[in-house]
Amino acid sequence: MNSSLNAARRRWELDEAGTDVVDVLVVGLGATGAGAALDAASRGLSVAAVDAHDLAFGSSRWSSKLIHGGLRYLASGQVGVAWESAVERDALLRFTAPHLVAAHPYVLPLTPDVPRAQAAALMTGYRLGDALRAAAGTPRRLLPGPSRLSAGRALALAPSLRADGLRGALLSWDGRVVDDARLVVALARTAAAHGARILTRCRALALAGDGARVRDELTGDEFDIRARTVINATGVWAGELTPSVVLRPSRGTHLVLRPGALGALRAGLHVPIPGERARFALVLPQADGRVYAGLTDEPLDGPVPDVPEAPESDVAFLLEVIGTALDRPLSRADVAGAFAGLRPLVDAVDAPEAAGGRTADLSRRHAVLRSPDGVVTVVGGKLTTYRRMAEDAVDAACPDARASRTARLPLVGAGPVRPGAPGRLARRYGSESWAVRDLMRADPALAEPVALGITRAELVWAVRHEGALDAGDLLDRRTRIGLVPEDRAAALPAAEAALAYA
Ligand SMILES: Cc1cc2nc3c(=O)[nH]c(=O)nc-3n(C[C@H](O)[C@H](O)[C@H](O)COP(=O)(O)OP(=O)(O)OC[C@H]3O[C@@H](n4cnc5c(N)ncnc54)[C@H](O)[C@@H]3O)c2cc1C
Repeated sequence: MNSSLNAARRRWELDEAGTDVVDVLVVGLGATGAGAALDAASRGLSVAAVDAHDLAFGSSRWSSKLIHGGLRYLASGQVGVAWESAVERDALLRFTAPHLVAAHPYVLPLTPDVPRAQAAALMTGYRLGDALRAAAGTPRRLLPGPSRLSAGRALALAPSLRADGLRGALLSWDGRVVDDARLVVALARTAAAHGARILTRCRALALAGDGARVRDELTGDEFDIRARTVINATGVWAGELTPSVVLRPSRGTHLVLRPGALGALRAGLHVPIPGERARFALVLPQADGRVYAGLTDEPLDGPVPDVPEAPESDVAFLLEVIGTALDRPLSRADVAGAFAGLRPLVDAVDAPEAAGGRTADLSRRHAVLRSPDGVVTVVGGKLTTYRRMAEDAVDAACPDARASRTARLPLVGAGPVRPGAPGRLARRYGSESWAVRDLMRADPALAEPVALGITRAELVWAVRHEGALDAGDLLDRRTRIGLVPEDRAAALPAAEAALAYA
């Protein structure tokens, strides 16, 4: 079946959704839900999957974009979580999304704040992480091992580091997805290619073991989707539909720094947080020139918002911590935007010792929970482990189904990229980059850049094939232009033109 998602397909699949009974209804189309839709559809099950908003509307688009090997979990003794992360990273790098996920280097500057004993312990941790890489089967060619750098080499990779007192640096490598929202789009489209109905702007109002009451948010119409089994994959909102699931969301804020704010940065940075033993702030240069810097971990009090706000206190904290490693402190003027996401942390399911403690200490392992009405909820975990979460959820919901196939199933775009494909398009569209290029050849007006090197053709492609239904979908999820408010305002007319053109 065709992988293209668009308004016309949504309309006819919505008509069908109210009439027949599907094997699996998945609620929520973040990485976990889109992954579950793909897992179930690729096992030959019939699937409907709904999201109240858009693909990747929730936490999945607010991540640090690390596809990590779980080093941090090793440090806290969660060896099983670390192993699972290393295995899932391997699947993404080698088989499922090699066009979207690649190795990225990180520099940890050895400043006077990092004692020699801590540096030695960190290097031991990196080596253990490298041993996990090898055990998971990821070749060094795809993920190089750690090394020690001289101060001069560290400054060559990150010229904005403070040279004064710098003894050198530790260099490590981990996986990174070019854009977390694009990973979700690729998952949803691959699920659609296997026959799953992907229905955005459809809110589940109430769940039962045999289906859900759903409202089309575009028309206000309500209808039932009947299913043999139901998977709740609504992340931080899971408890609203299944009250027996108790979460302790934690807010993580990132800054979006202006291109050049940290000079010609050729690697990410791990900046020690003063007073913390094994926590680091991250500086994450992006392919589009922007630099993300994060990341806080603060418990959320009160109701879960649709789009969390990044408070000024988080912005000030991050500027201060990152400034400690730089030759020039960062100022508010370096900040072009900020975004916050909520971690869907499970309250004390497998970390009862952390109950009531800091959210930073809560386990990052996922949980699959069956409520008395038979609904299976899958929650917690990470972007990196979405596939394993999806497999576990479908195993629990459909015990008689055949085994999962997703560990080696390439996502849309993962095929061979024809030589000569333009680099930026290849990194975002993989084997489809030539089709995007062909749009520009057919109509040169579509080659016009909108922002960050993104052309009008990419917006038109997103409307025709990636399920973008409005300007918000285009600017905030199919592209990330919207992370900087003034860029968003400048690109809005192009997004509206693309919707009309497509
Ligand atoms: C700040 C931050 C940084 C992170 N960094 C990383 C990282 O670098 N690497 C990593 O591996 N992980 C990272 N994570 C974790 C990771 O982002 C999340 O664990 C993961 O994205 C959760 O995905 P999900 O699909 O379970 O939830 P979500 O992405 O939140 O998806 C839930 C979906 O459900 C929909 N929904 C809600 N209610 C309803 C309803 N009633 N009806 C229909 N749909 C509904 C929402 O619209 C949403 O799209 C980070 C998390 C945060 C917050």
